[in-house]
Amino acid sequence: MDLPIRPARGVGCTRRRFVWLVPAGAALLATAHGKPKPAAPPDPSTFAHLDERDPHAKAVGYVEDAARVDRKAYPKFTAGSTCDNCALYRVPAQPWSECTLFPRKLVAARGWCDAYVRRAVP
Ligand code: SF4
Repeated sequence: MDLPIRPARGVGCTRRRFVWLVPAGAALLATAHGKPKPAAPPDPSTFAHLDERDPHAKAVGYVEDAARVDRKAYPKFTAGSTCDNCALYRVPAQPWSECTLFPRKLVAARGWCDAYVRRAVP
């Protein structure tokens, strides 16, 4: 059986078809692979505890235990104020949680800093 040297008309890869297929294929690839995948949200359980010696923590007088607040340096501190009832503490009732002020760090529920804002009671 003899095979045709040239494919039947309309079956093979003509220049016209090639010119059309290459940009279409490139567009398809760009659509499939060109979009950046949304980054997975960071896992807070991997965050380190905020160190009181961290310069940003020191700047606002952060302490892990509100009982150690320097009341002369921070006269606005009131008894009972802790990170746990601060509006910036992300997950109340957790011993450690994220604080909006210190991204990717965990602060202590019993802690306190000068940026404290009492959470509104619902
Ligand atoms: Fe704690 Fe609020 Fe200060 Fe954050 S802003 S460290 S939650 S007192």
